[in-house]
Amino acid sequence: MKEVRPFFSHTPEEICQILVEEKGFPPFKAREVLHWVYAKRTLQPKKMTTLSKKDRSVLEDTFRFRLLQVEERQISEDGTQKILFRLPDGETVETVIIPKGKRRTICLSSQVGCPIGCRFCASGLQGLRRHLQPFEIVEQFLHARYFAKAPVTNLVVMGMGEPFLNFQNVWKALSILNHPQGLGFGIRRMTVSTVGLKKLINRVFSTELRPRLALSLHAPTDELRAQLIPFPAILSVSEIVEFAKQYTERKISRLTLEYVMLQGVNTAPSQAHLLGKLFQNLPVRINLIPYNPVPELPYTSPKEREVQHFAVILEGYGIRTTVRQRHGEDIQAACGQLRYRALNLENTPS
Ligand code: SAH
Repeated sequence: MKEVRPFFSHTPEEICQILVEEKGFPPFKAREVLHWVYAKRTLQPKKMTTLSKKDRSVLEDTFRFRLLQVEERQISEDGTQKILFRLPDGETVETVIIPKGKRRTICLSSQVGCPIGCRFCASGLQGLRRHLQPFEIVEQFLHARYFAKAPVTNLVVMGMGEPFLNFQNVWKALSILNHPQGLGFGIRRMTVSTVGLKKLINRVFSTELRPRLALSLHAPTDELRAQLIPFPAILSVSEIVEFAKQYTERKISRLTLEYVMLQGVNTAPSQAHLLGKLFQNLPVRINLIPYNPVPELPYTSPKEREVQHFAVILEGYGIRTTVRQRHGEDIQAACGQLRYRALNLENTPS
């Protein structure tokens, strides 16, 4: 039986290796294929006119270029777009495109569903289905880039899933996106967000590819953090402080701490002071994220002045603090919401 491989699960070196060693292409022809795909953005072998008919048909039989289908696309009044993809096995994942001023950020998913189960998040509502393969991550980017209509400036792995639980595939996808003969997307413009897992976080020090890192903190105490993120073996708050120190010493880049603002849960001034004291001498950035409400869940977003007050307290400790603007509220842009709704529609007996 013919083995047909997803093109976008392979680095440019691997593509060349397969074409040269297994299929007998001369190396310059293999590089031409990469040029067609990445520079000329042609995903159909039959349109690669500098290749012979035979080479085109070998290529056709060797790789699959487009495996994700756009199931649904929503466009918000503020320009935010959300895409629901159908994967080859029928599962679904979401990708978001967020335009803001001159920036266009693409938010990618790393897993189908999520095993972490953060109390406030829609992605974990039905647990983990499976990991995404590299091509399923790269192809999200390719589609989103097309729909963005203008150059993409930033890429964040902040959609569905916990990227460190699918580390190999996520990092492989990022290396294909970053590769100069691949998509050539700058590593400093990529951010991976993690809940912070004891056994896995140090992997950031042992890989060559170092995107920026955002760590989901959400609480100034272990008790509250464990309540919001009910997953075993997440880093304690003091371990996060320790990690932030190491991260800075190794001068990788500034660590971002994400803090979802949940009204009446983690937004009190006293909690801002606790946070400020913990991180006051460390060059971290705290990103306050006003909660994007999920209808099935009991949390609400705080008032804007409450968020501002929280930010002012943190800044008083010399901590660089940013407030994330809310996007796409009219299209259920909170991570996992679109898929959750689609699943429920599918499961509703007609
Ligand atoms: N598992 C990773 C990455 C995916 S979630 C992580 O936890 O970091 C990306 C970010 O979105 C996390 O900080 C997460 O807590 C936050 N988030 C999830 N649901 C949200 C919601 N409804 N409103 C605002 N932020 C949310």
